[in-house]
Amino acid sequence: MIISTGTASGKSLAYLTPAVTACLDGGTVLYLTPTKALAADQLRGIHDLRITQVRAACFDGDTPFEERTWVRKHANYVLTNPDMLHRSILPRHAQWSLFFRRLRLVVVDECHGYRGVFGSHVAQILRRLRRVCARYGSSPAFLLASATASEPGEFAKRLTGLDVDEVTADASPKGSTTIALWEPPLTELRGEKGAPVRRTATAEAADLLADLVLADVRTLAFVRSRRGAETVALQARAKLSDVAFSLSAHGPPPSPLGPPHPTPRPSTPPSSDPSPAGPSPAEPSSTEPSPAEPRPAEPSTAKPTPAGPSPSAPSSTEPSPAELCSAEPSTAEHSPTRADPPLLGASPMPSFREGTGNRTGREEPRDSAAGSAGGGARGPLAWAWPEDEGLADLPEKVAAYRAGYLAEDRRVLEKALRSGALMGLATTNALELGVDVSGLDAVLIAGWPGTRASLWQQAGRAGREGQDALAVLIARDDPLDTYIVHHPEALFGRPVEAIVLDPDNPYVLGPHLCAAAAEIPLTEQDLTVFGDAARGVLDDLVTEGLLRRRPAGWYWTRRERATDLADIRGGGGAPIHVVESSTGRLLGSVDEPSSHTTVHTGAVYLHQGETFLVEELDLEAGVALVTSAAPDYSTFARDITDISVLSTLRSHPLGPGTLHFGEVEVTRQVVSYLKRRAQSGESLGDEPLDLPPRTLRTRAVWWTLPAAEVATLAEEGFDLGGSAHAAEHAAIGLLPLFATCDRWDIGGVSTELHADTGLLTVFVYDGHEGGAGIAERGYARAREWLTATRQAIDSCECERGCPSCIQSPKCGNGNEPLDKQGALRLLATLLRP
Ligand SMILES: [Zn+2]
Ligand SMILES: [Zn+2]
Repeated sequence: MIISTGTASGKSLAYLTPAVTACLDGGTVLYLTPTKALAADQLRGIHDLRITQVRAACFDGDTPFEERTWVRKHANYVLTNPDMLHRSILPRHAQWSLFFRRLRLVVVDECHGYRGVFGSHVAQILRRLRRVCARYGSSPAFLLASATASEPGEFAKRLTGLDVDEVTADASPKGSTTIALWEPPLTELRGEKGAPVRRTATAEAADLLADLVLADVRTLAFVRSRRGAETVALQARAKLSDVAFSLSAHGPPPSPLGPPHPTPRPSTPPSSDPSPAGPSPAEPSSTEPSPAEPRPAEPSTAKPTPAGPSPSAPSSTEPSPAELCSAEPSTAEHSPTRADPPLLGASPMPSFREGTGNRTGREEPRDSAAGSAGGGARGPLAWAWPEDEGLADLPEKVAAYRAGYLAEDRRVLEKALRSGALMGLATTNALELGVDVSGLDAVLIAGWPGTRASLWQQAGRAGREGQDALAVLIARDDPLDTYIVHHPEALFGRPVEAIVLDPDNPYVLGPHLCAAAAEIPLTEQDLTVFGDAARGVLDDLVTEGLLRRRPAGWYWTRRERATDLADIRGGGGAPIHVVESSTGRLLGSVDEPSSHTTVHTGAVYLHQGETFLVEELDLEAGVALVTSAAPDYSTFARDITDISVLSTLRSHPLGPGTLHFGEVEVTRQVVSYLKRRAQSGESLGDEPLDLPPRTLRTRAVWWTLPAAEVATLAEEGFDLGGSAHAAEHAAIGLLPLFATCDRWDIGGVSTELHADTGLLTVFVYDGHEGGAGIAERGYARAREWLTATRQAIDSCECERGCPSCIQSPKCGNGNEPLDKQGALRLLATLLRP
């Protein structure tokens, strides 16, 4: 069964009840979660129940060796993650025989995190788990818990290989929230090919944050990158500092009142209206978002975030280059009276850290921490609102927050927010990891957060009991963001996205078949567990000498560990190490395929929110040397792509054309990178690169148009190549609306005449070896997807194309040629009923 409902709807209770029952009945329970941190939170929750018959324990990389034996022998509620299951528990199943024999329930929590290639790996690990259970005579029930998703039953079936019932009705109480969709204005600045540039979402978010804080509205701003979050906080503080300065210098004297309630600003009176200065929101619309505010007990919706600086951190958690465009440098010069902000900037939150050090033991900081009582021990919080100092400390009411704080620090932060000592907080979605910020009035979301599911989750943070709340989505300069602010119907009354994964990906299946054979030799019957693709992959493994075929089945006979073949969170291949040249410090690693686009020579590289400049990428040595820097531009790698069709798996007519899904071989070469000014988005030109081409076998969706239709378009004077190219860019931008993915997970190729099809063809492919289910989803929802693509282009007010519609920051051809009107005409032809 899968439960797919909003945050704080009671999912934990729904699985804890049968889980505890299973333990009381003498059974065992296996609980899986994507991160160690969530498992630790869950364990605390179970211990708080104080049921002696439940012997719960975490089993992960941090579990000391001595404890592991105890867990195997005595625990009846084991909390772990897919990595441990894959590397340790399944390969040593004999040591776990007592546990497996009595296994009644497998809880797969936060399972929406298992998407794409990582999801495909987890799907195979769960199949291996089912086979091992069968060996010990148990057949546990699988109970999955997910954030709201479209077709959760279908997703759960792909993940587990079992038929799954779905529970999607959410009857938990909720307040009402007004949602505003906000499009920043075009500026006078010019980008690539003279295209107009929009004001950045972070600049708009900073203004809104300051305005809301002045209006006494407790506000949380979600920003994609940590640097972006710090920029928003800095700019909002600078703005508040200006207000405080002009009020104290020219305006009425500061109010001596206790509760922080700033007096009216000179120009605009504070109100709950979120649109003081600045442009009016595009198509504001009010509807109820589903999720209610989260409770502390339920560790909500965290993305798999590696705890601590792990060099093997999955590259997918690195901020994508797209985020760089929202990172802006400090605007210190705007703030005449601003004291050095203690919480932000280059040495982040020093006083916060000091405070932490001053505390003794694990005691919760006292309430006075938030108030920072004058003479006593200085509390850890520098954003306390000193009642007697008037407006000068207005900026102190805004701070930035990021992941990695200790639990006790998070509690202090929660208190400051609750008490009103802190009124505005800018954060990345790190906040999802366990900070309880109930009691907020408004949420600002700078840039489309990727999915409707995460939008509702973030919007659901606003709303005190029984009070109205506000959530503002601020669009970035991107086709998907543009489409959404112009098409509220894409958000309201629509189910959230489906979570996609492809359990048949041969690059994933192969290593897990080896691991399964090493656990228990594979037999004919096992093929049904691993799906239709298994037989073909097994034959290949035998040919490659990885498995041996004997009359009884397939055997792993090699000395090395079969589990080492599957790199479940990585992209495969030897990783490139990212090293700080001045200190030799290893910052992290990037898989080889993405190194060409993320750490090429000259790239601006973000690591845990800090900015670095890549001095040199040495592919042979497997090293990228970086140096700490604060450039005022961001970089986007440009590649040239060639694609050939290996096989067509499915086809059907689409208007006068044909839609296909199949296997392709993609050759990509990163040839240059684009520099764009961070503050304005203005293009600073291209720098050439010298990198070898890379070949990728993956899956793609593509469409073709017959020659007669193409001839008509040509007669009408459209640039055919430019039309197809523009349609491809916009289609890539919009696909994440239909399949949970990032535009950087997919790529495209368009051509007036493709060698394999002999026709005008537009391809969109999965950027991962073997495919990740994204292109397949595009094939299944092609009409809706291409309709949205056309609308996105149509609703952009630019004349000849801009980053909000048909320009792509990663275009290898420098966004040339592009024909906006031609793309509209081409898509209209294709979508003809
Ligand atoms: Zn445009
Ligand atoms: Zn392009």
